[in-house]
Amino acid sequence: MPTAVWTGHDLLNGKPVETLTIIFCTTGCYWGMGEGCTMCGYVNDSADSKPSDDDLLAQFARAADKSTPRTSLIKIFTSGSFFDEGEIPSLARKRILEAIGEMGSVKKVVAETRPEFVTEIRLHDTLAVLDRYDISFEIAMGLETSNDTIRNDCINKGFTFAEFIRASQTAANMGVTTKAYLLLKPPFLSESMAVDDMLSSISDTAPYASTISLNLCNVQNGTLVEELYNHKDYRPPWLWSAVTILRTAKAKYSHITFMSDPVAAGSKRGPHNCGECDKDVAQVLRDFSLSQDIGILLDVDCHCYSLWEKVIELEDYAYGSYLIK
Ligand code: SF4
Ligand SMILES: [Zn+2]
Repeated sequence: MPTAVWTGHDLLNGKPVETLTIIFCTTGCYWGMGEGCTMCGYVNDSADSKPSDDDLLAQFARAADKSTPRTSLIKIFTSGSFFDEGEIPSLARKRILEAIGEMGSVKKVVAETRPEFVTEIRLHDTLAVLDRYDISFEIAMGLETSNDTIRNDCINKGFTFAEFIRASQTAANMGVTTKAYLLLKPPFLSESMAVDDMLSSISDTAPYASTISLNLCNVQNGTLVEELYNHKDYRPPWLWSAVTILRTAKAKYSHITFMSDPVAAGSKRGPHNCGECDKDVAQVLRDFSLSQDIGILLDVDCHCYSLWEKVIELEDYAYGSYLIK
């Protein structure tokens, strides 16, 4: 069984299309098995024993059952890296891609991987299959931030911005686009530091990514972020921060597609505002992602907006504590 499968909508060449998202159950992220990232609980999702190629194919078949004849975009996650041979051996990868091609409706595949696995040979093998079916390919990488100090000290991601650039340029040279995931508010940053980090990360990443997805940090089980949260040393980001970042970024980089699907929005362990407006503001972020219409982000308000402005202004002086729960 795959870890998770769901259908949804995403943009393809500027138009909303039906998507199928698959999280394969593999042995999991090698980095997560070792040091791991401070906010990532995906290691809990991994298989106890290594699935065989046939198991991986069977997982795909189960997932494909949820597709429709209009499924145009397939997003592949593994709670690790699609290009890691230890998780998905090359033969299984080839067979999965062929099965996607045989579906007949798919126009684009996006697969998540850490940058160290992005090599010409793996891209070549992937394109050799997808080109036969006229399917375009995009790699998705969890860059999190362009700031190496924050990525290292706050997230413990284990790769540098230079490695991300190398991977995205290798991909670009072969006609493969890059989607970058950025992480709003890793631990140890105030709300305003987190917003500034995202704005500078977007500027730094813009030359290398055609899509930037703003991931809002949430509290996952068994993580350092959870430990800090339990000690009242971490609060997930405000949804207003995401609205502000996307508004500013889209105005500046209109050619880039910006996405944000705030997981666990409105709960204490997820990104939230005052509790009253969370549902609406989270929906605004999703609506913007599908329309890229900045106007949607301007058309939302709540009494807590001024409270968030105070947090932005004052939290830097709070010696690492958050001001409003
Ligand atoms: S965030 Fe990504 S790289 Fe980090 S441990 Fe989780 S799956 Fe691995
Ligand atoms: Zn509110």
